[in-house]
Amino acid sequence: MQFEELDDLYQDIILDHYRSPRNSAKLEAPHLKAEGNNPFCGDEVAVQISFDDTDHVREVGYQGRGCSISQASASIMGELLKGKTLKEIQAIHRIFLDVIYGKDTGDSSLEDLGDLQVLKGVRKFPIRIKCALLPWSILEDGIKEYDSNLQ
Ligand code: ZN
Repeated sequence: MQFEELDDLYQDIILDHYRSPRNSAKLEAPHLKAEGNNPFCGDEVAVQISFDDTDHVREVGYQGRGCSISQASASIMGELLKGKTLKEIQAIHRIFLDVIYGKDTGDSSLEDLGDLQVLKGVRKFPIRIKCALLPWSILEDGIKEYDSNLQ
């Protein structure tokens, strides 16, 4: 990974999540789970989620391996998911997509991304975009499957 063009502070946050992934314990009985990989880079990510009585995310588990961008994105995502509903999660995913693809989202949207903002630099590295988006696209598939099982 050529990091030279990424901001130093952002690099530090990315490497911190990469070296010390948050929520790495696997949930044994999750309500929602998803996994997938990015064959272009060899990244693998698995996510588990459990909800509380009001359909807000209570616990998150994430395991994976691969490049620092994909793993940091998954770790940051896990932190962001807690306390949110699936609708809120999907809204954040859409903002993140806009940011990664260089669309103007406004400052208030950026705040919703929290630490995920550190990954906006990957838009300068098209080959890394799949890495950054991998955990989110896996989760989106998991949400669709979860929704279809409810019906
Ligand atoms: Zn990667």
